[in-house]
Amino acid sequence: MTTAADIAGSVRSGQCSAVDVATAHLDRIDQLDRSLHCFLSVDRSGALGEAELVDRAVAAGRDPGPLAGVPVALKDNLCTRGTPTTCASRILDGWVPPYDATVVELLRRAGAVVVGKTNMDEFAMGSSTEHSAFGPTCNPHDPSRVPGGSSGGSAAAVASGMAALALGSDTGGSIRQPAALCGVVGLKPTYGMVSRYGLVAFASSLDQIGPFATSVADAALMLEVIAGHDPRDSTSIPSSPAAVLARLSDGVQGVRVGVVDELVEGASAEVVSAVSSAAEALAKAGASVESTRIPACRLGLSAYYLLAPAEASSNLARYDGVRYGLRVDGPDVEAMNVATRTAGFGDEVKRRIMLGTFALSSGYYDAYYGQAQKARTVVLDAFAAAYERFDLLLGATAPTTAFPLGDRTADPMSMYLSDVFTIPSNLAGHPAVSVPWTTGGDGLPVAVQLLGPALAEPLVLRAASVVEASAPGVPPPCGDFLPSDGTRSALPRQAVGSGSDGLPREGPA
Ligand code: GLN
Repeated sequence: MTTAADIAGSVRSGQCSAVDVATAHLDRIDQLDRSLHCFLSVDRSGALGEAELVDRAVAAGRDPGPLAGVPVALKDNLCTRGTPTTCASRILDGWVPPYDATVVELLRRAGAVVVGKTNMDEFAMGSSTEHSAFGPTCNPHDPSRVPGGSSGGSAAAVASGMAALALGSDTGGSIRQPAALCGVVGLKPTYGMVSRYGLVAFASSLDQIGPFATSVADAALMLEVIAGHDPRDSTSIPSSPAAVLARLSDGVQGVRVGVVDELVEGASAEVVSAVSSAAEALAKAGASVESTRIPACRLGLSAYYLLAPAEASSNLARYDGVRYGLRVDGPDVEAMNVATRTAGFGDEVKRRIMLGTFALSSGYYDAYYGQAQKARTVVLDAFAAAYERFDLLLGATAPTTAFPLGDRTADPMSMYLSDVFTIPSNLAGHPAVSVPWTTGGDGLPVAVQLLGPALAEPLVLRAASVVEASAPGVPPPCGDFLPSDGTRSALPRQAVGSGSDGLPREGPA
């Protein structure tokens, strides 16, 4: 399989041109995205222009950087100067940011080529990408299933080889859960490790940007490029991040791993069995593995669904018809505000704004928002106690494999439950990674999740590498998403097509 590291290696050494790599990926998007709908916008000429600059640098003997010529997709809540950033919402219709997010600047500086902006649940609220105002994304392993969410477009774009790497945001699981459902690696870094300047805010005390990749090493490579202090983000950690790649193959000899009951219970049988097999693999590699309980994890979901909507109701107050995007006129300013927000926001966003406004309202603040803050502290303390006994924790990422499109949209609670295992690390601000393990009986990816204390990315990813190496693995998506040699994508190759009806044909490669 061609990785981002392979692409960068070939481009840096002049073996392969960045323009050819970009063209191959853009062609693949042209062919496949009609069926999968991973992208909200594709900037063909922009991408080819960036790729040409990379090639020129190589020709002039300059090193374009560690991601030279690597095609990257960006979740559409990351600001990109001069190209639309919609957050999959009608309310941002026509808004074009006047600046790039810090992560976008860093990626370009490292030689990456941005191919487009990916689909997502509106304002990152959801777990299936079905709450996009522009229609859902399909799971490349089975187009009748969801890719997970909210960063479903990014996960599916990487899984189907339309981009070698992608960025998403994770407030309650929105990188890890879609990564699990699409069979790719997804990492939520420590809160503050990656600058959020230019990330459209959902719940500011939880939001974090992180990578999607087809391997742990590629996720580590991308993390090294995007991590670091940024004076433009007041929550950015002042110290420089530890090197991750250099120690990636150091193994887990002597590392203490706790398998957390609460991060597995209620999951389907195949998910439970993946977690035990991953635990065995870590033990075989020399880790001391023990099962443990962290009952406070059970508070996570309820606390999150008060705190995240409360913060969202405040963050989304800025979409008033005056400053950004859509305006629906009315006889006075208030009527214009109401008409704009009524037309511009989808149902799930409205539900969150109402929940959050209620939780913060006078008379209810202590009972709801205040209680949830206390529960968050209980979760933090419980993790702190666990990390006195363990270096890392292991659990499931998602309770089930990818569910059918439409299955959970009518029942918000069942949708919210998709993130029951991912939310605790957001509340704690800790890093966690989803690693593909195998495919379940339905042929869909099953993943496990590794969690560590703040700034433990080097160890978390080392253990993820061990898990990846021992995993039976997830075969790339069905036949027509791949070239016939089974590689996932990347270097220039013959174009592959979808069925004559424009829909992906199912079946093994
Ligand atoms: N699914 C969760 C929610 O709807 C998490 C979303 C996210 O991480 N952005 O809030």
